[in-house]
Amino acid sequence: MTAVGEAKAARGTATQEQAAALVFIDWYGQVDDRTVELVLVGVSTKAKPLLVKVDGTPLAAIPAKSCTYRQAKASKFKCTATYRAGALSFGEHTIEILVGKRVVTKSVTTSDVYDDEPKVTPTRFHLLYMHPSDRAPVAGRAEAIGHIAQVVDAWFAQQMSGLSPRFVADATGNPIVTVIPSTKDAATLSTYTGDLIDSRTWMAVGILEPDALPILFIDGMPAAPSCGHYTWGLGIEIPMDSCQIYPDAAARFPFGGTYLLAHEMTHALGGADRNAPHTDGGGHVTDDPRDIIFNGVGGRDWEHLALDPGHDDYYLTGRSDLMNIENSTLLERH
Ligand SMILES: [Zn+2]
Repeated sequence: MTAVGEAKAARGTATQEQAAALVFIDWYGQVDDRTVELVLVGVSTKAKPLLVKVDGTPLAAIPAKSCTYRQAKASKFKCTATYRAGALSFGEHTIEILVGKRVVTKSVTTSDVYDDEPKVTPTRFHLLYMHPSDRAPVAGRAEAIGHIAQVVDAWFAQQMSGLSPRFVADATGNPIVTVIPSTKDAATLSTYTGDLIDSRTWMAVGILEPDALPILFIDGMPAAPSCGHYTWGLGIEIPMDSCQIYPDAAARFPFGGTYLLAHEMTHALGGADRNAPHTDGGGHVTDDPRDIIFNGVGGRDWEHLALDPGHDDYYLTGRSDLMNIENSTLLERH
């Protein structure tokens, strides 16, 4: 065998091993009623797995296919694909993943939590702070979460001429932060990458109001695939250890976790519609680095963060064919 042939053979073997090592694949999040974001999580080395088909439909026709790696030498990979389906049901689906030159077929099931369409239109946010079952809450964290919510509330009010998010609040109007233990211990959470919002159970035991959308801050989930995310019909999750962004009790906008919270809450209010002129296809916009949900080329303009500064994508657009966040049921005027 030639050197080139040997190298090819070695690569072939490695690819097969890597394909075999695709041990865990999960769906991750529903952006809205028609867009599903898939995250493949698995164990592999150098193979760059690509999601190529869902239920036999090639993904080449579907934009925003990407795989990202948490670290250059990571044995863990994470692939994200935004899959726009006219009517993708939740349940069992077949996905095909290309690993090297080999196609791996997997059957995946969507998580139970997505089976429930929201029964009641949410009218307020409820802040929750979750700690591992075998660890105490971090001292001062609940207070810090309450503080950054107030900072973010004030930012929205300033951006939206007095309109701002409504929170489940105490008698003095301060957002309540409900502290709850996870059903999982620290060891389990240390590798956990799924969702933890369990509205059905929380409503059943009186932790969550039927008209409240949860914002769940989580301790002890360093492997989470994002710094934070909003899932349509489910709520916002902020796994703080993932990006080591911790609410700061003295934070001023956009520091100490306030930017992240404002960003996710803007998604929850409806920004940005998938038909917005500058959408990236995943709920963000790409046209203006000042935008709170900017996800384009280059850095953000941290000193001038704003809601849709051009008023052409999701706030005060004057267009009835786009989601305009000022119409969200989650806002109130003080
Ligand atoms: Zn986002």
